[in-house]
Amino acid sequence: MTERRPIALLPPALVERVAAGEAIERPAAAVKELLDNALDAGATDIVVEVVGGGLTLLRVADDGHGIPAAEMELACRRHATSKMATAADLERVGTLGFRGEALASLVAVADLTLISATPESESGWQLSFAGAELVHSAPAPRRPGTTVVVRRLFNALPARRHFMDSAAAENGRIAVTVRRYAVIHPQVRLALQVDARLLFRTTGSGQAEVAIGECWGQPLRRSLVQIPPQTQSGFSVIGWISDRTATRATRAGITLAVNGRPVEMAGLREALEAAYRPLLPRGRHPFAVIALSCDPADVDANIHPTKADVLLRRREEIAAALARAVRGALSTLPAQPDAVAWTPGLRQGGLPALSGDPPGGRLRESRRPYGSAEERLAQGRRVIRDLPQMRLMGQVQQSLILVEGNTGLYLVDQHRAHERLLYERLSAAPLAQPAQALVEPVVLELRREQAERFAGRLDELTALGFRVEHLQGLTYLVHSVPALEGAAAALALPGADDELWREATLPGDHWLDRLRTSVACRTALRRGQALPGPVMRELLHSLAALEAPTVCPHGSPLILEVTTDFLARQFDWS
Ligand code: ADP
Ligand code: MG
Repeated sequence: MTERRPIALLPPALVERVAAGEAIERPAAAVKELLDNALDAGATDIVVEVVGGGLTLLRVADDGHGIPAAEMELACRRHATSKMATAADLERVGTLGFRGEALASLVAVADLTLISATPESESGWQLSFAGAELVHSAPAPRRPGTTVVVRRLFNALPARRHFMDSAAAENGRIAVTVRRYAVIHPQVRLALQVDARLLFRTTGSGQAEVAIGECWGQPLRRSLVQIPPQTQSGFSVIGWISDRTATRATRAGITLAVNGRPVEMAGLREALEAAYRPLLPRGRHPFAVIALSCDPADVDANIHPTKADVLLRRREEIAAALARAVRGALSTLPAQPDAVAWTPGLRQGGLPALSGDPPGGRLRESRRPYGSAEERLAQGRRVIRDLPQMRLMGQVQQSLILVEGNTGLYLVDQHRAHERLLYERLSAAPLAQPAQALVEPVVLELRREQAERFAGRLDELTALGFRVEHLQGLTYLVHSVPALEGAAAALALPGADDELWREATLPGDHWLDRLRTSVACRTALRRGQALPGPVMRELLHSLAALEAPTVCPHGSPLILEVTTDFLARQFDWS
């Protein structure tokens, strides 16, 4: 919002209604508040500087509409804001800030300097607070805009400082925060400098994909797919997600925003992650930027002290639309034999290093590396379908099946390939899985919440091959396991602590997929297992019969392609 109202103290009745905020609990929270202020001021260029994890210094400079000198002191008082005046404003918050607390909270926990100029003023004005006292107030040169400098954050609060992680960890949190704002506001140029080093800078291109590349790097940008935009009366969702090659160990790559405000929103995040399963390995998370717009009257931003979460009136509908869109986008993603990670194990096996192969890099074919999704999909299917006709060369490192075709060599990961096969077999609903009875039933002692969920899933478990009987109370007996070779030994493990049963009693509706994935993973051929020729052949035949089997159920590639073109280039055969 660029149109500015004068700063005023909130009327007491409204103070009562804004959720009391302990807004600044760590340096990243201060950065978030200062970015909110800069964006609310209509800034198009924002520079964030951090020293010492934000505890030594935080500086945010913007080119927004500034604060008139006469209002600067008021701006630093609690419940002083230019963004809200009446109760009706609280019902439709159209700005990122609205409680008038951030600057006041910072004055209370740090030394704060505010330098600001408006387009109308001749020059700028500077205020400095130390120990919550105003210690300096004088003209200062400044182009229109505002600079907030926060020094010695939490210095007077040794207990709080004590709970801060290392500077590196705080820097990491700050970087996540700034990146999220940068991709949600791609029209704004945003730079983050940490200990005098520029971490990233966006160019204000207005395009989220461009900003994503600027924040996280070009390889990630290339893995992005846009989800089909969802527009319904009252809300719209747009977003970008990565294909399954770009997963991460934490959720820091997931950005969800409502009306320009990055938020946590566990419900939406779950809808997003659910759509990815079973493409993701366990414990991995997708990269995604999802921007939701809706009528401010349908959003309650006043429920969380740090505004990290909001309440959406139509969240179920929105979650469903998001899940649909993500599934839609993922279904167009091909399995990619043309860009899979080069398995390091192979190199250790003594192959000469391939010149020109970037360290930890990828092998690509000489044809356009990024064909359309359909082309890539068709190519992947063709390779897999042709596998049984190719020449089986043998097994490498007791882990990979080496096959030679007309256009190159293929290495198939025996464990992942078998896992995929088993997973598909277990998923071939509605056919019930044949079961094999256990000589001794497995006794499960569940916890109460687990047992409640488990009790409602017995039919689905039976269909999968697990015949389960409720003995009494929280005790269940498992009488059979799916009739897969080796399953009895791999699966009949006692105790509710076993991962398998934890999967089966997970809350939510992904438990079945997780359980299938686990069963497949445990039962599949291992790496390090010598395979006779007929077994390898059989595996390739079964793989060829599958739909799009170039990734294992965890989402990792199961085949590596080394094309003749690639070899020709690497060896300079012209
Ligand atoms: P809030 O953002 O909730 O209004 P703050 O304490 O963050 O409360 O800021 C108080 C007021 O100071 C804001 O309402 C705004 O008028 C002014 N202000 C703060 N930062 C800036 C900025 N970077 N540019 C322009 N005005 C600002
Ligand atoms: Mg604010």
